[in-house]
Amino acid sequence: MKYRIRFLILLVGAPFILVFLIKCAQNEKRATIFSDTATERKIDSIILLMTLSEKIGQLTLYTSDWDVTGPVLRHDYVDGIKSGRVGAIFNALGVSYISKLQHLAVDSSRLHIPLLFGYDVIHGYKTIFPIPLGEAASWDLKAIEHSARIAAVEATAEGLTWTFAPMVDIARDPRWGRICEGAGEDPFLGSEVATARVNGFQNHDLAAANTLVACAKHFVAYGAAMAGRDYNTVDISDRTLWEVYLPPFHAAVRAGTGTVMSAFNELNGIPASGNKYTITDILKGKWNFQGFVVSDYTSINEMVNQGIVANDKQAADLAFNAGVDMDMQGGVYDKYLAQLFEEGKVDIMLIDEAVRRILRIKFALGLFDDPYRYCNEQREKDSIMTPEHLAFAREIARKSIVLLKNDDHLLPLSKAVPSLAVIGPLADGREDLIGSWSAAGDYKKCITLLEGIKNKVSKQTNITYNRGCGIDDDSKAYFGEAVAAARRSDVVIMAVGEAAWMSGEAASRACINLPGMQEELVKAVVATGKPVVVVLMNGRPLTIPWLEENVNAILETWFGGTMAGEAIADVLFGEYNPSGKLPVTFPRCIGQVPLFYNHKNTGRPASPDDKYTSKYLDVPNTPLYPFGYGLSYTTFKYSGITLSDSILKWDGQIKVSVDVTNTGGRPGEETVQLYTRDVVASVDRPVEELKDFRKIYLKPGETKTVTFTLTRNNLRFFNREMDYVAEPGEFMVFVGTNSADTQKAKFYLVAEEKIKKRKE
Ligand code: BGC
Repeated sequence: MKYRIRFLILLVGAPFILVFLIKCAQNEKRATIFSDTATERKIDSIILLMTLSEKIGQLTLYTSDWDVTGPVLRHDYVDGIKSGRVGAIFNALGVSYISKLQHLAVDSSRLHIPLLFGYDVIHGYKTIFPIPLGEAASWDLKAIEHSARIAAVEATAEGLTWTFAPMVDIARDPRWGRICEGAGEDPFLGSEVATARVNGFQNHDLAAANTLVACAKHFVAYGAAMAGRDYNTVDISDRTLWEVYLPPFHAAVRAGTGTVMSAFNELNGIPASGNKYTITDILKGKWNFQGFVVSDYTSINEMVNQGIVANDKQAADLAFNAGVDMDMQGGVYDKYLAQLFEEGKVDIMLIDEAVRRILRIKFALGLFDDPYRYCNEQREKDSIMTPEHLAFAREIARKSIVLLKNDDHLLPLSKAVPSLAVIGPLADGREDLIGSWSAAGDYKKCITLLEGIKNKVSKQTNITYNRGCGIDDDSKAYFGEAVAAARRSDVVIMAVGEAAWMSGEAASRACINLPGMQEELVKAVVATGKPVVVVLMNGRPLTIPWLEENVNAILETWFGGTMAGEAIADVLFGEYNPSGKLPVTFPRCIGQVPLFYNHKNTGRPASPDDKYTSKYLDVPNTPLYPFGYGLSYTTFKYSGITLSDSILKWDGQIKVSVDVTNTGGRPGEETVQLYTRDVVASVDRPVEELKDFRKIYLKPGETKTVTFTLTRNNLRFFNREMDYVAEPGEFMVFVGTNSADTQKAKFYLVAEEKIKKRKE
């Protein structure tokens, strides 16, 4: 009898035990870098309590509106928060406002689930650093990480928990305004920078009160917008997608980014925000991304215009089933997801999965322990624009500056120069220095270039300032005064370029020359015969062949941020020896675009003696300044390359070494770059691909040996079957100061047994 009862209990209990064991196993599997098994169980229990409407609420993100005095929340959003129909808010700033909103969610909603607070913290929060393209020109991953770290410290001190950064879109077309927000044209450099930025924001510890959740955006291939026009369609091969546009996202996922943003563009016919292949199969499937995917601003609704769905409801269906977990500002999940569920078009498991991903991040941030942990008024007072942050802003702005030309060592200038003319529409402007997407930065706090110069030169130096012309108007009214100022001076510094609004979102330009009358102004000043230094401020490569031919020195300073003026003056007067290298090619003229260094060869490579080769009649194929280019006040000499072996065994490695000597008179930093080329492969390979780089500091006369290690891993690519493999055969290796000035050697990758294919 006793046994029979026991048996019965076991029989009845077995399914429950089985379910329990399966649940445990699932939980083990679900435990992620963002959470542990215990957290996953807590999430389970919250999901069990949630109504469908509360679940959909977690998938809904709205913007706070701005009023003259600051952000305000629309009334319907307030009700939405109270009733658990909003999961996150963006564009709300400041501890007092954010804690007010958090109280609404935590005190008034039924389940007390805290909100996430997002914002575009792209290159600094209040202390503004150079635009991301500029930071990438530093090739200094530690500095880039630190810049994101400071941004996170400041932003979290004001109550924010989530940044819509880094933008990791590769951009090969300088017409595209958002090129300024990324790391340029190269997938390897782009991936390294993506990793550095995610690490800076998240600091491997989302639970800390001074870390922000990162958001790698815009997934994917947004930077390949046709003709460089923002939001335009994208038509690229699957190979280009995998080789060029996906790698920085993969790097961000590997670095543990908590979120990813789906893009506005359509990709080969399917909108990125409704693209199951990229979001579910690749990102969440192949890469096992455990955070959540947020749409871009109404990018779900925009699929109606793209012609892939007939209305917002279908858009919600497509986006959600493709894997977009959270709807930014579109309101379509809020409106239609419940209906779609009732109609059987959306599975409750998928809704629960999306909720889980979002709650995971909220747990990781510690918001369930203390929803107000980011709302500390004292920290808000103490952490913003501190002297350390400003000092670092100056440091990274200097590191970002690229010396493009320096005839006869005109730079650096002497601080005791008797007279200087400072001319140009950007010379004393503050507004543009912080560039686009400058978060809560206040341009009024910037140091202008003129101020930076005045702080630097001797008391005896006579400075004349003249604006000369506007950035983009067509008046030459002040040319006469500017030319007269130049005539009276020993040296002229001209600050020209773009206004900040000319790059960034919705800021594509079909012609990327100096806008307005600026080039005319430079011509008029150069005609005086005085030595002219051009200081460029801009968010993209510009076509400036006349300047390259005719002025004496050119400094690319991008938009350098809060401390730009001081930083540029440091470089102009030799307190800092420029070390930046271009992360993007500068074309000679717009007709060459897209022009990037890692292109493939043609069957008829350009030859001056043969008309029927791949070239233009009117301009050379070569760029004005190649990828990786940048001069220094000193000079570096590269020895020939030494290889540890001419054979790279299948599971072995070879060392590639080069001696670099500082042959000039000043200490300086050089970025030594390593590229490879797969000479014969089953699919065409680029003429060169960046595989590694190293920054070294050399005193005058000093030599350092730089050694890189190459393994088969560095040589992999997507073969005809789209397997990620290396193929045996001949390889070229190039080491040098930029992509067009290298030493080369060759080696062979040898398969010891048969060729081994390995999927990543
Ligand atoms: C941009 C995103 C940005 C979002 C929120 C969109 O227009 O494309 O990059 O994060 O707005 O501000």
